[in-house]
Amino acid sequence: MNLENFELIYKENRVKIKDKAKIKSKLGEIVGNENVSDKEIDILAYNKDTTLITLNWTLEGKIAALPDFIVWPETPEQISSILRLANEEKIPVIPFSEGSGVVGGAIPIYGGIILDMKKFNKILEINDKDLTVTVETGTNGMNLERHLNAKGYTGGHIPQSLYTSSVGGWIAHRAAGQFSSKYGKIEDIVMGMELVLPQGDIIKFKTIARASTGPQLDKLFIGNEGTLGIVTKATLKIWPSPEKRALISYAFPTFEDSLEATRKILRQQIYPAVIRIYDADETNRHFGHIEKAKDKVMVVFVCEGIERLVDLEETITRETCEKNNGIYCGEDPVEHWFETRFKVTETSSTPTFKIVADTIEIGFLWDKAADMYHSVIEATKKIQGVMMITAHVSHFYPNGVGFYFTFAGIPPKEKTDFEFYQEVWNCVVKVIEDAGGSFGHHHGVGLNRSQWMPVEWGKSFDTLKSIKKLLDPNNILNPGKIYESVWKEGGEN
Ligand SMILES: Cc1cc2nc3c(=O)[nH]c(=O)nc-3n(C[C@H](O)[C@H](O)[C@H](O)COP(=O)(O)OP(=O)(O)OC[C@H]3O[C@@H](n4cnc5c(N)ncnc54)[C@H](O)[C@@H]3O)c2cc1C
Repeated sequence: MNLENFELIYKENRVKIKDKAKIKSKLGEIVGNENVSDKEIDILAYNKDTTLITLNWTLEGKIAALPDFIVWPETPEQISSILRLANEEKIPVIPFSEGSGVVGGAIPIYGGIILDMKKFNKILEINDKDLTVTVETGTNGMNLERHLNAKGYTGGHIPQSLYTSSVGGWIAHRAAGQFSSKYGKIEDIVMGMELVLPQGDIIKFKTIARASTGPQLDKLFIGNEGTLGIVTKATLKIWPSPEKRALISYAFPTFEDSLEATRKILRQQIYPAVIRIYDADETNRHFGHIEKAKDKVMVVFVCEGIERLVDLEETITRETCEKNNGIYCGEDPVEHWFETRFKVTETSSTPTFKIVADTIEIGFLWDKAADMYHSVIEATKKIQGVMMITAHVSHFYPNGVGFYFTFAGIPPKEKTDFEFYQEVWNCVVKVIEDAGGSFGHHHGVGLNRSQWMPVEWGKSFDTLKSIKKLLDPNNILNPGKIYESVWKEGGEN
């Protein structure tokens, strides 16, 4: 294989490394020669993450970007040494865990060193009294959850990518699991952390239930996307395995009815672990076999915990749905959801049919949530080439919700895949930002969304950029993400 035969999308950005042999040898001294590679077969494997448009690029024979080296460190001290070397030589370092990110966060657009975290895979300690688990951050999500389940606990964080993502990736992107209404997002679950700062210092945030010793600096590193520090260890909350699960589903005549019912359930301080509202199109797609739900809005609930509480939660959930025009559909739809919840062929196979698709998850307050949904759908449908725009709501809080839109389309002849993709994204983000929402609920910023950071953050974005400059004066850690936007020039085809 000759990589020169492929079009490299982020070619212009690549940092030139003068003496690659010297750098390879120094990396070998730090992690052992067997834990460094610059083989084509290895560097090709790290050319992208799971951003959907990059699948279209792959099918066209294009490579997003290529790193120069892959390293597999095992200790924070090794990471520290790698970062010190990278600062001396001005070489970018990009943390990479499982590559399931969907915003281009782990794409090495300036080349450099991919720091693969997979050897940080130890589950170190479960503390039953404190209800915590301490884990190295390269640990795979499913391995962690299985380990906890076998010992009578749950980690409460079950993203759809559970099998293909890591604890470090969750923390890096402020991820959310399917059971978030009860257990929270990852920022609610992390209690303590160890991390390596861009210039090589190793710092620890102690594990404590609550403290008041100055600002919550630890939070700065949750959602940092490998740009302010590399998280090597984390202590997370855990919960005893639920004694009982109640599976409940209702079909509602309108989207508004379904939102009202769920809002009122939360207002009574009832938190089903899972709540998912599917708009009429997604209901027909996922629950077409449920006669009572045809052309309606399906809502599935899972209440879990100790039996007496679950019974009460079920009663209140059902009463509230029925008062808001819900039609009871039994347990079957929820069982169907459990069986299919990790299947992703629907979106991941679209590029093979020359379809451009993506998902856009956004955060919104309750007040204008229904209006915002209709505005996004109407505005997107007007774009030439859009074949589908649908949504579900999958994360719920007493004050707001997380929506998840899916679009698919075929670009009109005069537009490239990238131009069409960008047009849809621009349209959705404009509606969201104009209405006061956030353009990302749990996928992060990465490469393709950094263009909207100034709009999302306003003046406070300057403060964030100053912090980046202070911690990482040489812009070594994961450059090109969050603070600068190179997506437009780089992604044109
Ligand atoms: C099919 C599918 C379903 C998904 N479902 C969900 C879902 O339900 N909920 C959800 O929140 N997300 C979901 N995602 C998105 C993705 O799984 C998450 O963003 C996940 O958190 C990424 O983890 P990862 O280990 O794969 O990280 P990677 O993709 O390897 O890296 C992501 C980012 O984190 C940085 N990084 C990685 N490790 C570290 C570390 N130790 N320290 C600092 N920075 C680091 C990388 O540089 C990169 O910027 C889904 C993705 C797919 C493909």
